[in-house]
Amino acid sequence: MLEALQNNSATNIVWENAKTALKKQLGQATFNSWIKPLIYIGLENGVLKLAAPTKFIKEWVESHYGTKIRFVSNGEIKQIIIDVNAAAANMVTQQIAAIDPKVEVENNIANNIVNIASYNESIGSKIDSRFTFESFVTATSNELAFAAAKQIAEHGYVSGLNPLFLHSGVGLGKTHLMHAIANYNAEKFPERKVIYLSAEKFLHQYVRSLKERSTLQFKEQLRSADILMIDDFQFIAGKNSTQEEFFHTVTSLVESGKQLVISCDRTPSEFSDLPERMRSRLSSGLVADIHAADYELRLRILKSKAIGYNAEISDEIVTFLAQNITSNIRELEGALNRIIARATLVKSEISLDNAKSWLSDLLKIKDKQVTIEEIQEKTAAKYGIKLSEILSSSRSKNIARARQIAMFIAKNLTTKSLVDIGKMFGGKDHTTVIHACRRVEEMVATDESLAREIQVLTSQLKAC
Ligand code: ADP
Ligand code: MG
Repeated sequence: MLEALQNNSATNIVWENAKTALKKQLGQATFNSWIKPLIYIGLENGVLKLAAPTKFIKEWVESHYGTKIRFVSNGEIKQIIIDVNAAAANMVTQQIAAIDPKVEVENNIANNIVNIASYNESIGSKIDSRFTFESFVTATSNELAFAAAKQIAEHGYVSGLNPLFLHSGVGLGKTHLMHAIANYNAEKFPERKVIYLSAEKFLHQYVRSLKERSTLQFKEQLRSADILMIDDFQFIAGKNSTQEEFFHTVTSLVESGKQLVISCDRTPSEFSDLPERMRSRLSSGLVADIHAADYELRLRILKSKAIGYNAEISDEIVTFLAQNITSNIRELEGALNRIIARATLVKSEISLDNAKSWLSDLLKIKDKQVTIEEIQEKTAAKYGIKLSEILSSSRSKNIARARQIAMFIAKNLTTKSLVDIGKMFGGKDHTTVIHACRRVEEMVATDESLAREIQVLTSQLKAC
């Protein structure tokens, strides 16, 4: 039925390509929550028309993915109009019913995820049994987060750590630690009710409860947890109604002595538009940062993962990987997995030369990483201003605009945090960077030639 509906609906190559790119960029789960429910209606003169099942999804896509959709279409989509439409609502109801369990089954098979029976009941996300405290390698960069998570796992509730707010860039172990809390409790304290929810799942369940008029039940379920963990809070922040809902749940849980663990790619203070009472509530326990892994830690993690695979990988290769893949642990692990998979498939010996050639794309991308300095130089040149002016605090219109554009590109093309970007623009505050990115997003939404200009600049930077 669902497939028939999808097949019947008209489609378009530009939109299909954009969807493929979005799936890659956003990941399957986010894509399923937000992009998949959209129905294609038409594309004419750069205006893409879509239908969404609810106002909530429409607004979320507009505010979070509008710019992205325009970018991935290489300028072919200039404007997006989303209607709220009953046909889309019917379709999404079926998707929720039909696809949700299937996606989870597929994930289980793909990732060898073990479902903990009757655990999390129906509300939570699946827990990966490999993510335990034992398999987490510690160093000074992550030991505070590790110790706090372990305390919570052992005691169920620790007043000074409520909420525990785990903060780091991507791929540095936040999800691992949350799953470790769940795994530990499933083994040692099965009577405790532990709910782990990815932000996508939280939003998905919330939207569903709105549609089914069962929000009260949803909230009750959340509040019945002894330990509630919400992963990737950044996806919830900024959406007023959900944010409010989330906040009430947080407050009532914390006040009733239940433990809350939140992970996020930013600290509470970095959310400039979060109401102050929410910010202070989120910071009222412990905000634990996980910093980037240094060479030593990368090496130790690789060695421990290689033992887990029971694969013979020479020290030379492990050293090479730890030296060259520095962005985060997920990427490092991905590289190791690739080497092991290829070696198993072709049954060839794992030599350093083999490893280098199997990872050549990854290593090339790394080489091509754009630096903030390059972005500043190219943007200044493009708008005919001096580099020193981009770094200055001048409010002259041309300069301020070029600076905002450079900050926007820096946020999109590099992995630097907002705080770091601010610092590198002559010591500005991260809120200035947030403001700049917003401003550029607003401008490109209405100014096609500017959108194209930024696209061209972005591609030139990526190509250098
Ligand atoms: P995040 O949630 O911060 O984006 P994840 O928890 O998903 O990151 O971690 C990405 C991958 O890196 C996972 O496979 C995880 O097991 C691994 N990882 C991260 N940090 C460590 C660590 N300190 N020890 C062992 N594995 C780690
Ligand atoms: Mg994560």
